[in-house]
Order: sequence, then C-alpha cells, then structure tokens
Amino acid sequence: MSSKNNDLNVSDNVRQIQPSATIAVSTLAKKLKAEGRDIINLGAGEPDFDTPAFIRQAAIDAIQGGATRYTPAAGLPELRQAVARELARGPNPELDPDGVVVSAGAKHSLFNAIFSVVGPGEEMLVPAPYWTTYPELVRLARAEPRVVVGPEDRDYRVDVDTLDAAYDDTVRAILLNTPSNPSGAVYTLEEVEAIVAWAADRHVWVITDEIYNRLWHDGPEGGRAPGLLDLDPALLDRAVVVDGVSKTYAMTGWRIGYSWSRTDLAKKMGALQSHMTSNAATPSQHAAMAALGANEEQRSEVLAMAREFRARRDLVVELLGEVMPDVGCVRPAGAFYLFFRVDAFFTEAVPDSVALCQNLIEEAGVALVPGSAFGDDRYVRMSFAASRDDLENGLRRAAAHLTR
Ligand code: PLP
Repeated sequence: MSSKNNDLNVSDNVRQIQPSATIAVSTLAKKLKAEGRDIINLGAGEPDFDTPAFIRQAAIDAIQGGATRYTPAAGLPELRQAVARELARGPNPELDPDGVVVSAGAKHSLFNAIFSVVGPGEEMLVPAPYWTTYPELVRLARAEPRVVVGPEDRDYRVDVDTLDAAYDDTVRAILLNTPSNPSGAVYTLEEVEAIVAWAADRHVWVITDEIYNRLWHDGPEGGRAPGLLDLDPALLDRAVVVDGVSKTYAMTGWRIGYSWSRTDLAKKMGALQSHMTSNAATPSQHAAMAALGANEEQRSEVLAMAREFRARRDLVVELLGEVMPDVGCVRPAGAFYLFFRVDAFFTEAVPDSVALCQNLIEEAGVALVPGSAFGDDRYVRMSFAASRDDLENGLRRAAAHLTR
C-alpha cells in the first residue's frame, strides 16, 4: 500500500539547509532582467571581468594535449607545487606541497577543512558578519557555529577578548575571513597573530579564508593582505589556510580552490575528497597552473583588475558619503563589497533587510544582498564587481528610493 504522506523524508543531514542567499538575489535579478526590467545587479559575488586570455589558452592547449583524464585526488603534483610556491612567504619561505589539497573551488576546500576538524557535539567560532556559507558548512559537519562579533569601531574584527568571552571546551575551531566578505575588513598582522596564538594555546584549530588576499586596497600594489603564512611556523600546527584562483584571476567558473595545512590533515582531506568528487576538473587545474605561473606581462593584466577594484572602492565610498551621508559603512580595505547600514530605513511595511532588498529590486531596480544573509540584519551588501556606471547609477537610485 502506498503511503499518503507526501512529506519529504530527507535525512537530518540536509533538513535545515537553505540555498545560498547571495545566489538567490542574483537569480531574482537575472529573472527580472530577462523579463525586460531595467535592473542594476549589485548583488554579484564574482569579478565582472573575463578570465585573462593567457589562462583560457592554457586550458585549451591542455585539452588539445590530452589533459582529459583523472588526476590524483589532491591535484596534479605540478599544481600542488605551484600552490606551495604561491602561498610561501616571509617566515614560511618553503611549504611542503604534500600539505596542499586542490579542490573544486575555495568553497570545497572550506568544506573539506571544516568537515575534517569539527564534528558532532563540537562548536566552531564564526565571526560575524560572516560569509553566508560558513554556518551551513559547520552544520553539515553536524557541529554548531557559535557566532562572535567584534566591536563596531574596529569594523567588527574580533580580538582575543571577544573570543575569550565566547570560549568553552566545546569550541574546537575558529574561522577567520580576511579580507572579509561581506565587510571588506582586513585584519592586521598583529591581530592575526594574536588570534592564532590564542587558538594555539587552547588547541583550537584556525581556518583562514584568504580568497580575497590579493584584492587588498590599502596595501601596496600586488601585495597580499596579512595571513596565516606570515606567522611563525611554530604557530601553524593546527592551522589551515584556504585560498584559490576564483577572485584574483576572475576564474569563478573554473572551480579551483586549495588549502594548505600540516600533511597528515591534508592526507585526510585528500581522502575525503577522493570519495566525494575525486580531483578538481583537469583542464581547470592546468588553467590554474598558468594563472599561478604568470610571467611579468601576464601578471600586469591580473594587477590591472585589482587596480580597478581599488578605484571602484574609492568611488563607492565617496559616493555613499555624498548620496547617503548619514549611513554608516565599513570602509572596505579589501575584497569587492561595500557593507552599509540600512536599519534607519526600516518601517512597519519594510521591517528587515530582506524586505528592504526585495523592495529595492522591485521598485528601484537595484539588486543588493540583505545583511541577514551575513548575520547582521541592519546592513546590506553592495558588490562593486560592476561597471563604474552601474555603481554610480545603482547607488543613486538606491539612495533616491530609500530617502524619498
Ligand atoms: N570564501 C569567500 C569569503 C567567498 O566570498 C567566496 C565566494 O564568494 C568563496 C570563499 C568561494 O570561492 P570559490 O568560488 O573558489 O569556491
């Protein structure tokens, strides 16, 4: 006899999971645009540039040369070496390529890392505002995210006092994202060091998501924001750095990210991946190798994209000050997002950031992402991975609508 119960009997693994809120806004923006509406999409989380030609050509050459089969699950040995060279710096001039695991995007590397260091009954400290995917990844590992918030006057960067207040012995790990999506905040080297030393003292794992580290607007051109590998190797016993080519090289669709950690953890993550996805796509690995091995001329093309993001950062911060002078924001020191406060515009009919973003997209034709997706409902996130015209028109339209 067939059951009349139509409930979707999914497992606890996915019962609570929600689609990514950032993707949901882009999808709505694309749908309205397809219907002929004039929509300025400032919700995107990816560079608006094409992948540089030299990288695309390397993938074409690789395919024509027969690079169409499996590679080792953790990646081509030459790519793991290239990643180790790319990540090496300062007190870590040489990294063991066996510590590198190449995955299908930094998101996948984060899954591998989180799933490998926390499990049932354990907690992970997640500083807010956070990238929307982090809490979901922690829950997929059947662990609990414990949200921590740094002081507003430090652009919400957490410090040891904040962590101490949240710590108990169920905490097994902390996730640090610098430069941050959504706020653009960048931790100083001293701040990273203090947090990693705090974690090391408590045998707490630190995972740093450094995917935007080469989009550092307050640093020297071509420089990298301070990160885990700027620290003394003695502090890195329980540390995983996650990075990738998606943002720096405009390669979001290629799906290549990577992690570096001690080799025994890397082996575990490689084994996990070997049962899930096996290797990241082989032609994409060749493309990533070309990106990381860029010569001087090719590198200048990559630097030009970073320079444009910096110019747009200056533009949007100035423009926000002009069109909505009373609105607070985090001045983005890195990445390509402007996180600004909108709670002053909440009304009975528009009581939160989701309603406000829906209202903005439908009535003003501007797509932003609600702050609630990042753990702070008072804000919205505007991406500046869009043309200068769109940024200017989008911000002006949003301001006219909000302050009407
Ligand atoms: N980490 C952060 C903070 C991000 O913003 C993103 C993409 O939006 C990722 C990781 C994912 O990168 P990838 O496309 O390489 O999976």
